[in-house]
Amino acid sequence: MAKTIFITGASSGIGKSTAIYFANKGWKVIATMRNPQTVTDLGEYENITLLPLDVTNVEQIKSTYEKAVSLGNIDVVLNNAGYGTVGALEGTTDKEIEQVVNTNLLGAIRVTKEFIPHFRENKGGVFITISSIGGLVAYPFFSLYHATKWAVEGWTESMAFELNRLGIQIKTVQPGPTKTDFVGRSLVIPEHPAYDDFFDGFKKVFFSDEVINSLAAAETVSEVIYEAATDGKNQLR
Ligand code: NDP
Repeated sequence: MAKTIFITGASSGIGKSTAIYFANKGWKVIATMRNPQTVTDLGEYENITLLPLDVTNVEQIKSTYEKAVSLGNIDVVLNNAGYGTVGALEGTTDKEIEQVVNTNLLGAIRVTKEFIPHFRENKGGVFITISSIGGLVAYPFFSLYHATKWAVEGWTESMAFELNRLGIQIKTVQPGPTKTDFVGRSLVIPEHPAYDDFFDGFKKVFFSDEVINSLAAAETVSEVIYEAATDGKNQLR
């Protein structure tokens, strides 16, 4: 019987590419996103179901979970929704800080929490959260993004101890710079005069042609996600 993956943030980039990758492997895919009506091409796949989900909306996490499990068992949950922030912490607002934590970290935690009983009753399942190379190393001006991704790593590590004994796997995938809409959609914090020289130097390196031309394809990350979903291995370091 075909397996099923539930994906958050499947409207573009890695999430969308992974929905197509798994669908082409014969999986059933529940592709969730904030505005499903705008992503009509995924709807052309008969094994992809589109459902609405903003991962910062606690009530919608519950209702989308109910709809998803009413369609059948879920085998893999991919916490992919997320975005970047670039700029000096001094220039950010509280609202911006809350929004990125709510999306990149709390979104993944809340979606995972909702699915744990389902996996426990099924005596198995795999949670994968898209972390980042930025969850392992740190650069200046990405502090909020790093905070969310390092937190995802620590949270996953602890959850692996908690869940693996129930036969449930939980792991992260850490892409490097990947060719998606990520840079265009990242929140760019207004430049702050105290950091002008440093920030200019940073931009020259991070947004150089060399970096832009060496981005990985989203499909490459999808391949790694597929491996993580099917290798049967737990993540405990
Ligand atoms: P994209 O911007 O192409 O995709 C991000 C996705 O997240 C979009 O579908 C977006 O939906 C969705 N999203 C954002 N906020 C929410 C929300 N509140 N609820 C639901 N969905 C939301 O970028 P990527 O594909 O690159 O990013 C996917 C993941 O990969 C992210 O977690 C990112 O941090 C991570 N990553 C990316 C890297 C890169 O270089 N591209 C490197 C390392 C990690 P919408 O269309 O509604 O905005």
